[in-house]
Amino acid sequence: MSDLFTTITTPNGKSLEQPLGLFINNEWVKTAEVFETINPSTEKPICSVYRAGAAEVDKAVEAANAAFKSPEWSNLTGSERGDLLYKMSQIIKRDAEAIASIESLDNGKPYANECLAADLVESYEVFKYYAGWSDKHTGQLIGSQVLGKNKICYVEPVPLGAVGGIVPWNFPFMMMAWKIAPALATGCTVVMKSSEITPLSALWYGKVALEAGLPKGVLNILSGFGADVGSAMVSHPKLAKIAFTGSTFTGQKIMEGAAKSNLKKVTLECGGKSPFIVFDDSDLDLAIEWAYWGIWYNKGEVCTSTSRFFIQEAIYDKFLEGFVKLTNERAVTTNPFDDKCTIGPLVSKLQYEKVSKYVAKGKEEGAKLLSGEFLDGPGYFCKPFIFADCTDEMAIMKEEIFGPVVSITKFKTVEEAIERANSTTYGLAAALFSNNITKAHSVASKLEAGMVFINSNGDSDIHVPFGGSKMSGIGRELGSYALDLFTENKAVHVNMTVPFK
Ligand code: NAD
Repeated sequence: MSDLFTTITTPNGKSLEQPLGLFINNEWVKTAEVFETINPSTEKPICSVYRAGAAEVDKAVEAANAAFKSPEWSNLTGSERGDLLYKMSQIIKRDAEAIASIESLDNGKPYANECLAADLVESYEVFKYYAGWSDKHTGQLIGSQVLGKNKICYVEPVPLGAVGGIVPWNFPFMMMAWKIAPALATGCTVVMKSSEITPLSALWYGKVALEAGLPKGVLNILSGFGADVGSAMVSHPKLAKIAFTGSTFTGQKIMEGAAKSNLKKVTLECGGKSPFIVFDDSDLDLAIEWAYWGIWYNKGEVCTSTSRFFIQEAIYDKFLEGFVKLTNERAVTTNPFDDKCTIGPLVSKLQYEKVSKYVAKGKEEGAKLLSGEFLDGPGYFCKPFIFADCTDEMAIMKEEIFGPVVSITKFKTVEEAIERANSTTYGLAAALFSNNITKAHSVASKLEAGMVFINSNGDSDIHVPFGGSKMSGIGRELGSYALDLFTENKAVHVNMTVPFK
């Protein structure tokens, strides 16, 4: 392969210029090795992209560090950085159809309803939002009235430096936006690694950076694998931080590597096995509607997926009937470029095999399969799986499947629901349904989760902190909270008694 770009014609008839090289120091870069990315709808390769190794990590980190010190970047005011972020937002908005098409092709998520209507919108909105923050994260003055007559101290949030980002395959473009935008807003420079399963949309950030006029080295994009590129980033002494989204298993490795290298900061957005609790005083139709979205959105390949349903016994049968009916009426498993598609193919063969293993395990362990089946290939297609009468010991109730599989059980009392919902090592999200507002707030306060939804589910809003407790992660993304995690508060103490000369 010699070309740095290829033309891809997507099933919705778009002819797109797809970058294939790495993006380092504002240049497209070839390497000795390439790897294929597979279309999950056909199981055929889409194209091959250049594969980074440790040497390219070094180059990208070098470029990001040089950029961090360069006057072209470090002399910019917050407002000027905001202009660049706003330009990026507008370019992404203009190119949304193209990027969404590439995303749908590479990942299998529905083009119209999810890639275009949700992921791309959230991505350009994130850049717009942090464009606004670029000149507003201003620090604090602690004055002489607090410190004593002759002292003041100013606390300035200073950017950490060159930071790394590592993302998974389930929201490839959007997860990058969540990291790149706040990092640039604070004045950091960035080296991002995409997932080896979905490397294509990430490379479009190179195009965006060039057109927006980012100084060279400010944003670098690597395609490659976790074991070599990811771990080389984690152990690199010249990266000040790793912002990671992915599995808890990898998150643990990242924390360990970060501690051993240079004690770099980490934020970890990891896995979940989130509960969905319906009390018998809730609006059942509303609960069923949100149950549907909370588990079947993006084929269940969502970290906040509510994959454990706890339904109070008086409404259990009615809930099951309604939920199965809605799923069978509304979940359309088909080609993701078909406007009717709500469930595209699972992202990869590996993921298809993982889901198959859990479905077999669920049956073996005695859960009652109410709906769901694998479809004939090509493509990793299935109709969503609904297991009822599950017990807490079953693997499908305990382990993150990260696919279209839900495990449903019943409960008697409020206390039981809380205790069983919390009996997991994860703590990402939780949803609860009740028309008793006092009960709803009381239960919300007792659920061990970074995000709780009352009479709703899966809401992700760029203004609101996103992240988990327990083994679901460390730190928060989005909102003003993300800015704190890309900066260090520097305290400058000033003695006011020095005489004038
Ligand atoms: P993964 O952990 O296998 O991979 C995530 C990223 O880490 C990939 O880019 C991969 O190449 C890289 N990686 C793998 N090993 C590495 C290593 N040793 N050092 C450095 N990097 C390494 O996860 P995945 O399968 O891509 O994604 C699914 C997981 O992501 C699920 O557990 C899901 O819950 C989680 N996730 C969490 C959130 C959240 O915000 N909490 C969001 C999306 C996905």
